[in-house]
Amino acid sequence: MRYCTQCVLPDTRPGVTLDADGVCEGCRNHARRGQGIDWDERRRRLDAIFEDAKRRNRGYDCIIPVSGGKDSTWQVVKCLESGLRILAVTWRTPGRTALGQANLDNLVRLGVDHIDYTINPDVERKFMYKALVKTGSTGVPMHMAIYAIPLRIAVALEVPLVVWGENPHVEYGRTDDSDQSDELGPGWGQRHGILQDSTPEDWVDDDLTLKDMEPYTMPSEEAFKRAGVRSFFLGDYLPWDPAESLRVASEHGFKAREAGPRLGLYNYADIDCDFISVHHHFKWLKFGCTRLFDNLALEIRNGRITRDQAIDTIRQRGDQTPHDDIASLCEFLRISREHFAEIEAKFRNHDVWKQVDGVWRIPGFIVPDWKWS
Ligand SMILES: [Zn+2]
Repeated sequence: MRYCTQCVLPDTRPGVTLDADGVCEGCRNHARRGQGIDWDERRRRLDAIFEDAKRRNRGYDCIIPVSGGKDSTWQVVKCLESGLRILAVTWRTPGRTALGQANLDNLVRLGVDHIDYTINPDVERKFMYKALVKTGSTGVPMHMAIYAIPLRIAVALEVPLVVWGENPHVEYGRTDDSDQSDELGPGWGQRHGILQDSTPEDWVDDDLTLKDMEPYTMPSEEAFKRAGVRSFFLGDYLPWDPAESLRVASEHGFKAREAGPRLGLYNYADIDCDFISVHHHFKWLKFGCTRLFDNLALEIRNGRITRDQAIDTIRQRGDQTPHDDIASLCEFLRISREHFAEIEAKFRNHDVWKQVDGVWRIPGFIVPDWKWS
């Protein structure tokens, strides 16, 4: 296990490859981000797409998939400024927090119609449990629902646009121009490995029928094309600055978490769902890094802290195991904490972790004097 010499990410984390100088791709690409992009020209293209949608539509101009976070609030504000009629669509996470609900309510009051799409909790529980046992993550059902539901609704209601936020592949990897035409159509999740090469049919068994899997199922490429839906990332057309989107969202009623961050570094991120932290917790077992590492890598790349300060922060924060959220997830899945521990054990990566005197530890961990317990 080796760490990037500029940030704090280990090469065990998927997507992190170190070059001959020991620098990760995310750090290399960061310096080039946004360079050579004519944002005025992009803005004109965006306006043309919006005008075309207004001409074509029969009702809503666009669907905006929203969680209630600062970025969804920013997306809604930007599209309202362009005079679009918006249908906001949410996959309702079973772990929604009170703050997540309040921010969604606020977003709807900005002047949009909203579908809060709730999946039968029985189906969701079965699927999430199977995914957790098989992949060590509840990410597959979560991502399938997040991507499929808005696209299905766009096709069904003949809405010409689906406007996503930032392309998740920008933050930790790609250079800007490579994915400019990276439209989020029915095949996008497979193309980027987000769904771990699985389709809803793969999860069908005696317990889950194909009909149960309906909310997780993408429209066919054919139906998508026939409906003439364009599905794209706003971040490919407008410069994406988290500080700016936070400022705009806050001005429009978005609330960060007063008690501080739920996990990682930011009190305005990962705040709408109790189960996100468990998803990240498994990365600790699999790759030896946490959400905090991701956040610190961004802070270093943006020149706000040094690598030494980042390592100090990891030391001070200590163990990041989200005990309360694990308890909530176990309750939702109707499994015991003991059974959850068995699943954790199955996904602890023995290439990263070694047991010494009965205690699991990561040899060569970035914080040399870490307290293993
Ligand atoms: Zn790096």
